[in-house]
Amino acid sequence: MRSELKKLSQHVSLLEAPEYAFPYCNTILVEDDLCCLIDTSVTDDAFHYLRTRRLDLIISTHYHIDHNMHNNHLLQAKIMAHEADFPYLGSRERFITTLGVQYFGEDLNRYLKLDKLHYEFREPHETMIDGKVIDLGHTRVEVLHLPGHTPGHCGFLFPDLGMVFSTDLDLARFGPWYGNVLSDVNDFINSIDRVIAMKPEMLITSHATGPITSNIQVRMTRFRDVIYQREKGVVEALYRGKHTLWEIVDENIIYRRFYEPQMRYFEWFMIRQHVQRLEKLGKVFCDNDRYYLYDGVRPSNINLA
Ligand SMILES: [Zn+2]
Ligand SMILES: [Zn+2]
Repeated sequence: MRSELKKLSQHVSLLEAPEYAFPYCNTILVEDDLCCLIDTSVTDDAFHYLRTRRLDLIISTHYHIDHNMHNNHLLQAKIMAHEADFPYLGSRERFITTLGVQYFGEDLNRYLKLDKLHYEFREPHETMIDGKVIDLGHTRVEVLHLPGHTPGHCGFLFPDLGMVFSTDLDLARFGPWYGNVLSDVNDFINSIDRVIAMKPEMLITSHATGPITSNIQVRMTRFRDVIYQREKGVVEALYRGKHTLWEIVDENIIYRRFYEPQMRYFEWFMIRQHVQRLEKLGKVFCDNDRYYLYDGVRPSNINLA
């Protein structure tokens, strides 16, 4: 796979991976007084290029492996990450708990591609919090904590470029992904709304081809609204008499088909997020691990936003 290097300014470049191709992601390279790479899951040719460059700092947007593939191959650079994702970057044992092995055992563990991908965990060094300004010389990067996908998921504002790097708020047609134990669909909605309200002139995401300069708010809104469409699907399933999480999972509301066995587990965690959200909204109640709509709540009158 080949990457494309797109220069965004004198100091900032986008190293673009092919769209939505696991385990790759788009990365941002800043070559300034300090040299910094945001995420490291570049393609092989980009990795060879990076090996010839100076690199002081890796900023890890979140703990998912398709954003950290080369953390352990660029050892001269320290790793910065949000505190909430810190534990899962450094340890396989902690990482797999976020996938739900404590719920579904080794069954799920088996499907992970960690070994096949030769993924190596590396402990991060420095934490970052929302609002922190990382000063790289002529380039300033402001941390945007955008939780939901993972608890420590971060995006970045490049104020001098009018650009937001929104990471896995990635405009995928599939919609937002919150299939980990620690994902939170409400946080995800709030994070998307925050980016929409920022009205960036330019948007780069981790997996879409970029930079995107038109219809950013419309596209982000459409991406967010996939969550509400799914939730409507959950209400319809409950209305049709599906009451356990697994019954709703097998309605294939989120993944239209389970191409790989782990997808069914991811769907379970996402469906669980929805029924829990519907509970908080007062639309659904739980009785003995079975979920029911309150009287009068119907797919035709549900208002979720
Ligand atoms: Zn991710
Ligand atoms: Zn991603």
